Formats: sequence, structure tokens, C-alpha cells
Amino acid sequence: MLSYWKHKLTKLRTDKNPKRWDALTTHQAPHKPILLLAIMDLMEAGRITENRIEPSLELVDAFTGYWRKLFPVGKTSTMAYPFPRLQTDGVLALIPLQGITQPIPPGKIHSLHKLQSCYSHACLDDNLYVLMQGAESREILRTDLISHYFAEVIRAEIQGESRVNRLSAQYTHYLLDKGTLTPDEIKEVTVTRIVRDRGFRGALLPEYDHRCAICKVRVRTPEEHHVVDAAHIVPFAETRNNNLTNGLSLCKLCHWAFDEGMLGIDKNHKILVSSHMRAAGNSAAHLIGLEHRPIVEPVHALYTPGGENLAWHRREVFVR
Ligand SMILES: [Zn+2]
Repeated sequence: MLSYWKHKLTKLRTDKNPKRWDALTTHQAPHKPILLLAIMDLMEAGRITENRIEPSLELVDAFTGYWRKLFPVGKTSTMAYPFPRLQTDGVLALIPLQGITQPIPPGKIHSLHKLQSCYSHACLDDNLYVLMQGAESREILRTDLISHYFAEVIRAEIQGESRVNRLSAQYTHYLLDKGTLTPDEIKEVTVTRIVRDRGFRGALLPEYDHRCAICKVRVRTPEEHHVVDAAHIVPFAETRNNNLTNGLSLCKLCHWAFDEGMLGIDKNHKILVSSHMRAAGNSAAHLIGLEHRPIVEPVHALYTPGGENLAWHRREVFVR
């Protein structure tokens, strides 16, 4: 079974055009191998525990991390491209959403939005799923994919990206779990900055449905870039507090205004606007209009912004 899949995964149908793809990706499109690596990373981190691969934003992030290692800024792609097309390779089967009788054919899907509008998830071939679940066979498949589809000069970086993906997904898992444990049960972990930031983002933003907790804006580009950041209420450098209760999903503008003390949040979770926003020369009507409105709350109440963190921000940062 392993040798069958080892062979099959080196025969994925890819775009082989040397004008479009250079030697780094062995003159072929790397979408499918990257997606398979990303799926295996999330499996190893315990984020995929059954044969149900959802086109989740976590998977998008893992895919995008690899893509950025390979291509310059500006050359973008989306996981929504290889995800449905792996069906033609016999790697997975797409499962339409309930009630969808005529889903868009895989070859016509070019965005996550389209993919999610007709398919709920995909099931890997049963045997492949078993192989990907086994630590040893998964490592063999991973190494094979990397050595077959990527030039030697980039292989170590791809391996490194895989490690970061696995550790950040594990850290996301840890942060979500941490909220449910008592202080005695929590074992603190030390991770690198990139793993810490990615893991925090992966846990926090879905809690807010990728919406700004202050102005409620939610924007997703076709390449799955989001307008929101995973912001800390008390800066991480102050207290090294990465609990989700010290986080807020904020758009770029609200993040800046919050960090500058132009916006705050009161103890009833209503928005505070600094009087300085009304100073002569400022033009901030749409932010001023948010005053006294409630913030967006996370999906799970246990990750609600902590009262003591918001109080710290009002005391130390907010400009009255
Ligand atoms: Zn905002």
C-alpha cells in the first residue's frame, strides 16, 4: 500500500510549463504537493483527526506559508485551486454541501468562496488516510513529495516550513485547550516567535469569524488575505500573556488606533473613543461614530477579553 501511494503521489497531474515554473519547483506547478504537505502538517498537529478534510482557513494558512517560501510577493495563489482538483488524481473525493445537487465542477473552482459554497469537505482515499495518520509512513510520504517536486536548494526550507506549520497548529490547539483548564493543569510551553504569532492568530481569528471586534469590518481577498490582525490587549512584551483573553481580532485601522490609545473598551465591553479624535485637523467621523457601541464577542464566552487586560489598556494606553 505504501509503495503504491509513494508512486502515485509522484505522478500528480500538474501544469508542466517551464515558462511559468522554474527549476525551484522542478518546472511544474507546486499547488498539489504543497496542499498535501499542509494536510499532513495539520494531521500531525492533531488539527485533523478524522477523514474529513475541510477547506478551513487553517489549511489556507498552512498552504500559503509554503507558497510564500517559493514565490516573491505579488505572485499569489489559493488553496482553493488544488483542493478540488486532487479529486481527478484519485487522492480525495469531494463531498457536496447538503442540498447541493449540482455542485460546480472541480475544474471551474478558483476561489475559496466558490469551493465553500458547494462543498463541505473532502475525504481522502481510505488507504492514503491511514498512511498519513501513521507517523512513519507520513514522514516517508512527506520526504518523497519534497524530494520529487522541489529542487535540492529549497528542500531544507520546505522542511522548515513544515516544522513551523506543525508547531503552530499544535500551539493553536494548546491555546484553545488552555482556556478550558484550571491554572494548576496548565503546562507552560516555550515556542519561537513565528510559531507563537501564527498559533495565536490561528486560535484567535476564527473566534471572531475574522471580523474586527471594534468596527465589525470583515474583508477577504480572492487570495484569502484578511483585513484583521490578532492584536494583543496588553502587549505581549509587557506580560508575555498569549491567552486568548488577552487578544482581539482587529482591522489594521482599529489595531493602530487601539495601540495608540485613540480607542479603548470599557468594562461593559462598549467602545471608548479618545476626545483627541475630535481635535482640530482630525477627520475620524466613522471611528467616532462607534462610541458606546458594543464590541463583537468571541464565539466561545471563555475567550471573552479579560476585564483586567482591558482595564490595563484603559489605564496605561487609552488617551481620555
Ligand atoms: Zn476595525
